Amino acid sequence: MEPILSVKNLNVSFRTYAGEFNALRGVTFNLNMGETLAIVGESGSGKSVTAKTIMKLLPKQNSFIKGGEVKYSGKDLVKLPQRDMRKIRGSEISMVFQDPMTSLNPTMSIGKQIAEGLRHHQKMTKKEAYIKAIELLDLVGIPNAEERLKEFPHQFSGGMRQRVVIAIALACNPKILIADEPTTALDVTIQAQILDLMKNIQKKLDTSIILITHDLGVVANMADRVAVMYAGEILEIGTADDIFYQSQHPYTWGLLASMPKLHAGRSERLVPIAGSPPDVSQIKEGCSFVERCPYAMKVCQQFSPENSAITRTHTVSCWLQDQRAQKYMPKAELGE
Ligand code: SF4
Ligand code: MG
Repeated sequence: MEPILSVKNLNVSFRTYAGEFNALRGVTFNLNMGETLAIVGESGSGKSVTAKTIMKLLPKQNSFIKGGEVKYSGKDLVKLPQRDMRKIRGSEISMVFQDPMTSLNPTMSIGKQIAEGLRHHQKMTKKEAYIKAIELLDLVGIPNAEERLKEFPHQFSGGMRQRVVIAIALACNPKILIADEPTTALDVTIQAQILDLMKNIQKKLDTSIILITHDLGVVANMADRVAVMYAGEILEIGTADDIFYQSQHPYTWGLLASMPKLHAGRSERLVPIAGSPPDVSQIKEGCSFVERCPYAMKVCQQFSPENSAITRTHTVSCWLQDQRAQKYMPKAELGE
């Protein structure tokens, strides 16, 4: 499959009062045409920073891209001037955020908000935009579209608002939709409906989706491939089957163990991953998961594991899966 977006060795830092911290460290992945790639990890792992870097929406004052590229349609978005990116953002690559209230303007009718992008990017007339807006509300499953276009965000429920946001994101037929925790603010039944909606839309429009979430459960029925992020790195990436049935990274094992089993009874005990993510400004060498990893060896403290390809689709960054571990440490210390 041809990648539509190719992210290579992305390194992004933030300047803070406490010093510089590396929010992304060597993030590399492809998004294939028409697929859903889920990026999963705890909060602070760099998922949103990855999305914002792709969209060129990082805060200017305190962030900088130290290296890497984001290839899209023959261009490197990292190098693209903002003025060119503005043409791509919202029309070719769109984004949906966690809280629909923050992405909607409370003082403007839904119809106007949908029409805005259409008129700006597609140069539609008022009438054309209005007709398209009705179509879009139908597409995202909002009944009585004509009536509802006149209403304001507060007149919609949380789930309906997120549908509106998705309609706006889809207005210009983007090739890529990046959804950052799109269902986190919603209750469970509504979550499932929004995910279903996204799945159906993808089938209809063949959009490629990056779905960002802290909840591995959310992606089980939705993702074609899954990237597991931790402390600014992708620790494991593979097909959904690779990750759910053949995962090779202790952190992924932890995420899987902390996920409620889909068909289990209520008494199912969840096992949270012990400890908390590291302070990324403190990571110097070694595996970023070492403090929390029940399988840590000495080599893990001293050298960062490199990416090892387990299969053609599945890559992991862990010394357990790397033959070279033995080269770095005497055998006796490996199994410590
Ligand atoms: Fe655990 Fe070592 Fe693998 Fe890191 S490299 S996840 S510390 S076994
Ligand atoms: Mg986030």
